[in-house]
Amino acid sequence: MKNRVLCLFILFFLISCNKNKKEITFQKSDRPIAIVLHGGAGTILKENMSDSLERAYLAKLDEAITLGYQMLVDGKSSLDVVEQVVIILEDSPLFNAGKGAVFTNDGKNELDASIMDGSNQKAGAVAGLTKIKNPISLARLVMDKSEHVMMIGQGAENFAQSHGISFVDATYFYTQQRFEGLKKAQEKEKILLDHDEFSKDDKFGTVGCVALDKNGNIAAATSTGGMTNKRYGRVGDVPIIGAGTYAKNGVCGVSATGWGEYFIRNVVAYDITAQMMYQSKSLTEASKHTIFEKVGKMGGDGGIIAIDKDGLVVMTFNTAGMYRAAIGSDKKKIIDIYK
Ligand code: ASP
Repeated sequence: MKNRVLCLFILFFLISCNKNKKEITFQKSDRPIAIVLHGGAGTILKENMSDSLERAYLAKLDEAITLGYQMLVDGKSSLDVVEQVVIILEDSPLFNAGKGAVFTNDGKNELDASIMDGSNQKAGAVAGLTKIKNPISLARLVMDKSEHVMMIGQGAENFAQSHGISFVDATYFYTQQRFEGLKKAQEKEKILLDHDEFSKDDKFGTVGCVALDKNGNIAAATSTGGMTNKRYGRVGDVPIIGAGTYAKNGVCGVSATGWGEYFIRNVVAYDITAQMMYQSKSLTEASKHTIFEKVGKMGGDGGIIAIDKDGLVVMTFNTAGMYRAAIGSDKKKIIDIYK
């Protein structure tokens, strides 16, 4: 009898050891999570900002980053997180994306967006939209529900219609501030007598988000109204995969903002990723090189947000400011506007 009791005791002891082992294994495989977002880069100076506007920007950045991080904690995929965060920013009139987008030369709003899944290199992009409330969701739909990567204008909107995406009247995008931005740009254009001049200082406000989820999947998304006073169906870097947006698991995810032509010519988001893959550079080194040594030296301005495979967050820009927020794998929350 005594021996039997002893055997049972040993058996229970071994089972409970095994249980503990399982928990330790589970904790070891718990991967880092991280999120970063931007609301555009440009000549954003404290002296030009009222206290109430500054508070409004900080509150919106805080709302978006907190919601995105909570989604990651709850186990949501990085793709769902970047889409949802960009929707919040598109719906805010503070930013040049969705509601609050800048105006084209003929007084319209033409929206571009893209999204990329770093786990399989799938991507979706849309350009020249005039009636879609949340362009990022249409970009996601192009990726998920079509064989294509990019759709533009009326064709993209026909595709949206057949998939139940929210349409709005074109007047939905109107904001007084952006309309005044167009008038100012056109006045400046008259003075300069340069008909191809963008008002680059009024363009900032593009939005983007990069996230790393618990499964090590990286996703990136970017959405914009482009540049004030644009014409001829001009499209910038935002919907160009590799220029404005890129994501690759095991390396990094990048979302850009700035003078799009320079970001296209330097294939910014992919250039950063390629330096890490082929030259073993860190995300910080690669980002600095692309923004300062390439874009900057060519005469372009703007910035990027990025996350590497370990959850390190980088926010690099060569402008006076960039609306930005992040919570990296170190769990520290950063919300900032100026240099
Ligand atoms: N990159 C955008 C474009 O060129 C504008 C911006 O990010 O401010 O369309």
